[in-house]
Amino acid sequence: MKASELEYRKDLSLTPDIGQISFKDSRLILLDVNSLGILRESLISKLGVEQARSIMLQFGYQSGFSDYLQIKTNYTFDNEEELLISGFNLMEWEGLAKTVLTDVRFSHSRKELQISGHWLNSYEAEQHLIYHQENSEGVCWSFAGYVSGWCTAFLDTKVIAVERMCVGKGDAHCEWIAKPANEWGIEAHFIIDALKEF
Ligand SMILES: [Zn+2]
Repeated sequence: MKASELEYRKDLSLTPDIGQISFKDSRLILLDVNSLGILRESLISKLGVEQARSIMLQFGYQSGFSDYLQIKTNYTFDNEEELLISGFNLMEWEGLAKTVLTDVRFSHSRKELQISGHWLNSYEAEQHLIYHQENSEGVCWSFAGYVSGWCTAFLDTKVIAVERMCVGKGDAHCEWIAKPANEWGIEAHFIIDALKEF
């Protein structure tokens, strides 16, 4: 199948009689984004921006990594590229953001990968802007973590996604690029540091 044919809702099981929602053997919950925004803001106010950013990056990374394993286990794609880009379809199904990919290149055997794209309608930027109007860096921390986790699981080597433009800092859209950790310089240092134990 192609990534665009991913019909996530068909495999969702909503069973209110037992108080559970599942996708295959993963339990999910539905959550109002405002409550996630409050949680995020509590992390920032209690721990500071750097710690909050690390936690959100790690949260996103784990989510992307485990989503990859679920999707790889449960679906058969036409080729590896369709499997790779299905993660961005999944972000849309999960209501995180709309993704427009602008570049997809990889070689499993050489452990090479470069993917770039835009996010539109990022819930994370939307929530951040409720509390903080003046930002000098990208604020879609869990999304950068998610793409890092998804691509790391795919390539079986550490991949880091960095957001270069963000609605949260006044740009028209969020723009990011992902590539192996060892190809990044100083601009990815804080993400690499936040994810070093994963
Ligand atoms: Zn953003």
